[in-house]
Amino acid sequence: MPSIKISALLNLQALDMRLRDLELRKISIPKELDKILARREALNASTAAAADKVKKAELSIKASEGEIQTLNAENAKLQQQSALVKKNNEYQAMLAGIAKNKQKVSDIEELLLVKFDELEELKAQADRIKRTNAAELRAARQEFEELLSFSKTCDAEIEKLRKERPALLAGIPPELLSRYERLLRGKDKGAPIVAVENGCCGNCHMKVTLQTMNQLSKGELESCDNCQHLIYAAE
Ligand SMILES: [Zn+2]
Repeated sequence: MPSIKISALLNLQALDMRLRDLELRKISIPKELDKILARREALNASTAAAADKVKKAELSIKASEGEIQTLNAENAKLQQQSALVKKNNEYQAMLAGIAKNKQKVSDIEELLLVKFDELEELKAQADRIKRTNAAELRAARQEFEELLSFSKTCDAEIEKLRKERPALLAGIPPELLSRYERLLRGKDKGAPIVAVENGCCGNCHMKVTLQTMNQLSKGELESCDNCQHLIYAAE
């Protein structure tokens, strides 16, 4: 049975380790939230880009249709004028102009067929992208909400643990407590107090001397000769 002193330290350590985990976890949350926001922005941008392609294709079709209208109007005018022309060469020139415009109209109409096909394809593509992105946006929004709520849960637990901590200090001699706290804040991040397993320190895994093992077997608390962490004999 570990002594009362050792049990008190182990209880304190369990709380401190949980506290450390929560605090570390908290630090990473803002970055994770930023990542989700960036992902949402990219999804919105990709939906907008696909819609923009559709709009451009529609504008290009409108422009071609406008050109056809202009050419047809021009031809109607030439047709009217040609009826009033007396000279043959002027009449021939007008007919040639009309034929040229008709050819242009037919070329544009052919091009329009291609543009309409392209528009349909772009619309289908934009639709697909919008649907896929909407599903991903929903997932991202949910992830964001969950992370925010997790952050609040962390805060609440951290606050609760900090309140509970002072009560756990009772029964721990001040000198031992300060050693424990030095180890807790130490660089190696290992648990300050560890059990000896198979004759080895639970923190650094170096063999514990026979003399120390002897002390431990009496229920004493010792320091590892190698890493200085507090060690005790496991059951
Ligand atoms: Zn050690």
